[in-house]
This record gives sequence, structure tokens and C-alpha cells, in this order.
Amino acid sequence: MNFPIIEKVKGGGRIELVEMFGDDLTPARVARISYLSKGDESADRKLLVRLIDLGHFSPFEQQVFRFVLHDFPIYIGEQILRHRIASPMKRSFRYTKPSRGMDLNEIVHIPPEFTGAKRTSIGNEIREEKYRKIQAHIRSSLKLYDELVQAGLRKEAARTVLPFGTRTSMYWTINMRSLMNFLELRLSKAAQWEIRQIARAIVRVLEQVVPLTLSTFLDRKGLTELTRD
Ligand SMILES: Cc1cc2nc3c(=O)[nH]c(=O)nc-3n(C[C@H](O)[C@H](O)[C@H](O)COP(=O)(O)OP(=O)(O)OC[C@H]3O[C@@H](n4cnc5c(N)ncnc54)[C@H](O)[C@@H]3O)c2cc1C
Repeated sequence: MNFPIIEKVKGGGRIELVEMFGDDLTPARVARISYLSKGDESADRKLLVRLIDLGHFSPFEQQVFRFVLHDFPIYIGEQILRHRIASPMKRSFRYTKPSRGMDLNEIVHIPPEFTGAKRTSIGNEIREEKYRKIQAHIRSSLKLYDELVQAGLRKEAARTVLPFGTRTSMYWTINMRSLMNFLELRLSKAAQWEIRQIARAIVRVLEQVVPLTLSTFLDRKGLTELTRD
């Protein structure tokens, strides 16, 4: 497998799998210690499916992924950080300024209703007017931030004027058991659109590295149809 594996997130940002520990059949091989049993690849595949069917998830803690989650809005970071069984390392706005770029949506997340990434019932005319106001508001926040920093204010204090949707990044190391919990909660229609897109991008990464584990898990939990529009 060639790392990194990168998938774009709908609405902005991307998921990068930089390395992983274990492969698709690792949980089956690990589970065999219980009975000191042995099996070939075909037997391991059957055992892997059985572990999921039985809800015997502790062997999946032995399969670990190190992601870099790039350019998600800060408020989505708050939601990701609520998943305690993971090891995050976040970019700091005490030490860095918001990213710069030509596209405002790369600096601050613009709700997908305004960029066309998500359907909306807001009428065209109102949408265009509100979109202009959002852009003006973000630009003015970024300008004030720059002015404060240039005037000598600490970056850690100047960030108080940055929008909550300012994009940030983090390393996120998580085992498959906890990732399954994340996917179940965050692919759900009850979860916010933005984090659902992150969960879907993670699914597209996992399809490439742990296809049997992923497809069996999604199937048994009835999540498969939630991975696509
Ligand atoms: C639709 C939605 C709405 C939400 N709304 C809110 C909200 O309004 N406010 C809010 O604060 N959060 C909210 N959350 C976050 C939610 O409460 C969880 O904190 C988050 O989804 C992480 O789930 P988790 O605890 O299962 O994951 P993890 O923290 O990764 O924990 C994994 C599992 O480990 C076990 N575990 C972890 N820590 C403990 C512990 N201290 N004691 C016992 N068992 C533990 C549990 O079995 C848990 O399921 C929301 C989540 C969703 C999906």
C-alpha cells in the first residue's frame, strides 16, 4: 500500500491517511490467541466477518490509523474532539495565523448552501444577498485580525475576532474499534452535514485499506446507503 492516501471532503478540506498499523485481517489473526488457533487467509476472512457479527470488537483495537484531517472548520473540530478514544494533535492559532488563499472558502468554511455543494430551499435572490453579506463579514474579520496582530497584539488574543468556521487541521490517530463508533455516529443523518462529509471521506480511504472490515461493518450496521448521496 502506498501512503499517503488522500480523499477530498465535499464542501472543503481533505483526509489524508499517512500510515497504519495492521491490515484488513489483523483483528482475525489477533483474535486467534484466545484459542491458540491457526488459519489460512480464507479462514481469517471468515473469522473477521464472524467477529463483527458477534459484536466482538476488541480485536479491532489492534488496527490503528494515523490521519491528517486538513482544513475543517473549528466547530467541526470540536465535534471530532468529543471522540475521546483517539489521539489528536491540532494546529495552534496561538502560534499560526489563518491560512491565506484566493478562495475565501479555503480560509473560512462557507456553508455549502451558498457554494452550491448542498441543496437548499433558500431562494436564489436571498441566497445571493446573504452570501455577499457572509463574504463581507469574513473579510472584515480577517482584516481586523491582521490589524490587531500588526498593532502588536498576541495572535492568541487577536483570534478572538476570527470566525468560528476558520479552517484548521490536525493529526488524528485512532483505532478501528473507535473509528467504527465514529462512523456509526457521524454518518448518521442526525449528524451535521459537514462532519458527515468527513465520515464519508474516511469511508473512501478505508475502502482502499480494510475493504472486508469496512464493508461488513457498514452492512451489518445498515450504514452503507449513508456513505453516498
Ligand atoms: C448527533 C449528535 C449530537 C451531539 N450533540 C452533542 C451535544 O449537544 N453536546 C455534547 O456535549 N455532545 C454532543 N454530541 C457528542 C456525543 O455526546 C459524544 O460525546 C460523541 O459523539 C463521542 O461519542 P463517544 O462518547 O461514543 O466516543 P468516545 O469518546 O470515542 O468514546 C467511545 C466509547 O468509549 C466509552 N467511554 C468513553 N469515555 C467514557 C467515560 N467517561 N465513561 C464511560 N464510558 C466511556 C463509551 O462506550 C463510548 O461510546 C453529539 C453527537 C452526535 C452524533
